[in-house]
Amino acid sequence: MTETTIFQKIINEEIPCDKLYEDEFCIAFNDIQAQAPVHFLVIPKKPIISLLECIEQDANLLGHLLFVGSKIAKSKNLTNWRTVINTGAESGQTVFHLHIHFLSGRKMNWPPG
Ligand code: IMP
Repeated sequence: MTETTIFQKIINEEIPCDKLYEDEFCIAFNDIQAQAPVHFLVIPKKPIISLLECIEQDANLLGHLLFVGSKIAKSKNLTNWRTVINTGAESGQTVFHLHIHFLSGRKMNWPPG
């Protein structure tokens, strides 16, 4: 059996989060260790480990996550932000429940580290 992730515990309301948005498919909340003045995450309620595990039937859900995150960013009057999805430990993924980072409020560098 796989270990319950911290994000699954947030979905199950076993631990709190600084929630920005929720619907039947996803939750968005502020990152606990913000890497920019604005840093929030959008996660699916469906327990998908990463993009690697996505299947064809997840395509609409993936679009929904991006759309929801963009709506939140626009509601904060943001016009510039970076979206990041880490896939796998070597890419920097530390929580193995799919999530999209939305970062804004400072100048971003390229290439990322
Ligand atoms: P990853 O490195 O792409 O997997 O991103 C995981 C993110 O989850 C990191 O930016 C963490 O700071 C964030 N995180 C971990 N635990 C919590 C939590 O309990 N609430 C909010 N964000 C969290």
